Amino acid sequence: MPTFVDPAKCDGCKGGEKTACMYICPNDLMILDPVEMRAYNQEPSACWECYSCVKICPQGAITARPYADFAPMGGTSIPLRSAEDIMWTVQFRSGEVKRFKFPIRTTPEGSIDPYAGKPEPGNLDDELLFTETALKKPQTALGKKFEVAEADLKQVFKSAVA
Ligand code: SF4
Ligand code: SF4
Repeated sequence: MPTFVDPAKCDGCKGGEKTACMYICPNDLMILDPVEMRAYNQEPSACWECYSCVKICPQGAITARPYADFAPMGGTSIPLRSAEDIMWTVQFRSGEVKRFKFPIRTTPEGSIDPYAGKPEPGNLDDELLFTETALKKPQTALGKKFEVAEADLKQVFKSAVA
């Protein structure tokens, strides 16, 4: 189900050359009406509901019609992410609003050092992977090198037995 822009909330990203929703949409669906200075989804049927435009809109003007498994038809949903959690605001067609908040991390923001305990960066020209200290030798299959013709014969033999 696609996204919809509330024209009462959209300010056209204050007349910027490319609005935030146009910038973020991976499917190039969002477009700005240059007269009204309001954005809209130009091809709702092509929207895959990735929520990128909903999340990036600085005015909170975009809502998505959620899948029926969590809000029956006619509802809207907006996810808002903070550093610690994400909150989904779901409005049902009856007008009832429910909010669901979920933690999104188990460690303090900025506390992760992705290179901790890893080797120092090496020479980009060598063939080693980042965590390798020496090149691995290719393993010898069954301790013996098979000629192609011999390997083919074995395969045929196996198939015949099977
Ligand atoms: S990002 Fe929001 S405010 Fe900006 S143009 Fe799109 S809908 Fe309007
Ligand atoms: S939900 Fe995703 S695909 Fe749909 S209009 Fe927004 S950014 Fe584009």
